[in-house]
Amino acid sequence: MFDVEAIRAQFPILSREVNGKPLCYLDNGASAQKPQVVLDTIQRAYGHEYANVHRGLHTLSTISTENYEATRGTIARFLNAPSEDHIVFTSGTTEAMNLVSYAWAMPRMQAGDEIVLSIMEHHANIVPWHFLRERMGVKLVWVETDVNGDLDPQAVLDAVTERTKLIAITHVSNVLGTVVDVKSICAGARTRGVPVCVDGSQAAVHMPVDVADIGCDFYAITGHKLYGPSGSGAIFIHPDRQAEMRPFIGGGDMIRDVHRDEVTWNDPPHKFEAGTPGIVQTIGLGAALEWMMNVGMENIRDHEADLTAYARTRLDGLNWLNVQGKSRDKAAIFSFTIEGAGHPHDISTVLDKKGIAVRAGQHCAQPLMEHMGINATCRASFGVYNTRAEVDKLVEGLELCHELFA
Ligand code: PMP
Repeated sequence: MFDVEAIRAQFPILSREVNGKPLCYLDNGASAQKPQVVLDTIQRAYGHEYANVHRGLHTLSTISTENYEATRGTIARFLNAPSEDHIVFTSGTTEAMNLVSYAWAMPRMQAGDEIVLSIMEHHANIVPWHFLRERMGVKLVWVETDVNGDLDPQAVLDAVTERTKLIAITHVSNVLGTVVDVKSICAGARTRGVPVCVDGSQAAVHMPVDVADIGCDFYAITGHKLYGPSGSGAIFIHPDRQAEMRPFIGGGDMIRDVHRDEVTWNDPPHKFEAGTPGIVQTIGLGAALEWMMNVGMENIRDHEADLTAYARTRLDGLNWLNVQGKSRDKAAIFSFTIEGAGHPHDISTVLDKKGIAVRAGQHCAQPLMEHMGINATCRASFGVYNTRAEVDKLVEGLELCHELFA
């Protein structure tokens, strides 16, 4: 049975105070807190089992390599990837998208080719494609959301032309919480012969993800939002796409042989992983994902669906609050502004005095902000350990902001 208090007890940071008030952490969209098992795993990896990976034959290097490589299998299970060889470790989603841009897209695209994107992408799923626009004359084709912040999968497919070489799309918006029907997009894209790269940064933390069922070519996740360490992450890459990719970062580990006039590459996925990696970060990510799977992804989804429904009702009851994004299928992410109140930074500062952590700003999603015609929002994003009582605290804090500023 899912017991939120038992979950909370596993996160030491949740028992601290901020500004003399119990911490109410609602900034999970930016980065999530870490359970004790992840902290213990990091401590053990550095304190008892640390050495470089893939290099030494000595005992510690073997243990460290086994622990590190075990995460690949864990991620494959977490995403239901057919094989752990389809999982490439990265430092997070930003690196993953740059890997796809440099290693897969750049050698395959020409001036006039097109990439279809949604208007609600995070900069990490925009700027690597801008490189191709700027340097090679690739065209970025934008598909807009409707007034509710929903993205019609058919609109994405309608944007595909014979010049489209890639669809790059988020699974869940980091600003609006909108859940995108990536499965329908992938099905339509497949019949048109267009690969799909999915940004799963905000999705994989809230719901079970099955890349085989989605049918995508690339699916990126980032450890720090998955209750794991920062600097860890991975991307699922379909083997057909892996076969088309050239290496990205060059150095140790990604090669088979290096001579004066010749170099040959290691097999995938190692071909795409150069140099000493984030060893302990990746081991910690393995512990975080095992922890999430033990809690149960369905339990996490259901608990957060309850929080989302409750937060929606409470926030909708504040008639001076403009909640952005009224998508029916919405993850536990709420962006809002207060009518007549100052900058969202002011709201965030007042909430912080109450121990409530939210994010204020553009959320690395400037095209979406321009589309919505606003400069910035406040964002409350919930995680597995949040409670209805914390939704109530947020509402109290917002009522205070309304009194102070509006
Ligand atoms: N995409 C989305 C939707 C995100 O929310 C984020 C993190 N804010 C990123 C990409 C960037 O991920 P990372 O921090 O791993 O580089």
